[in-house]
Amino acid sequence: MITTYIIIGIVIALAVLLCFALAIASFSFENYYDKLKKIQQCRNTYGITTLQYVTEINNRYFDKRLKLTRCREFYDHYSTNIIALSDKTMSSNSLASLAIVSHELGHARQDYEGNKLKKNWRMKKAGRICGLFFMPLMIAGAILSLLQVFNVLKDILFLIIGLSCLGLGVLIFIYAIILKYKEIKIEKEASDYAIEFLSEILTQPELDLCKDLLNSARLTYWASLLKTLLSWTFLAPKDNMFK
Ligand SMILES: [Zn+2]
Repeated sequence: MITTYIIIGIVIALAVLLCFALAIASFSFENYYDKLKKIQQCRNTYGITTLQYVTEINNRYFDKRLKLTRCREFYDHYSTNIIALSDKTMSSNSLASLAIVSHELGHARQDYEGNKLKKNWRMKKAGRICGLFFMPLMIAGAILSLLQVFNVLKDILFLIIGLSCLGLGVLIFIYAIILKYKEIKIEKEASDYAIEFLSEILTQPELDLCKDLLNSARLTYWASLLKTLLSWTFLAPKDNMFK
């Protein structure tokens, strides 16, 4: 009797946890875009444009090693020694643009000071290739195992192969989760560096707004991890395992 109650308790706790996680996942993206829109309206009191700011940080921290290129709107990013910014970001002097660019400069600093960023890129590349095999392995594994268990395939070898496929699938899943978790840590550090860069020119209230935006951006990475964790329930909205 007691065991039944314990099981019911565990199932309810899991269901509550699941709802909570799904709520975070769907809330985090809206929350980020709301904050982004709001902070896009705020001009920095220092009166610097994003382009001037990047040039200044490049001179001071990177011995002018960073190159600046253009990219499409919303695709601002960092890749080896290159900061790519859209025209809109470059000419803007909003706090949002400064915060986003500072985060990318934070990645540049990670790349400049060590190899963890490149290592993460390599792991993600490997992950994308492994990810292609995830579904085929799970489906083949399940079919082979079931057919053997229900005696359609007699040879025990089919069960062994089936379970091995399922095992490999689970390993790929765990790899995806570990990678997402590592990425969150890298994102956090890039944002910490961003705040350090920004603290040189912004006032405390401006800095708080930028921190708030960067924190809500990080929440979207947690959401992505939760989505991957819950992808097997088919309740969570789809998210690429190795995005
Ligand atoms: Zn980032």
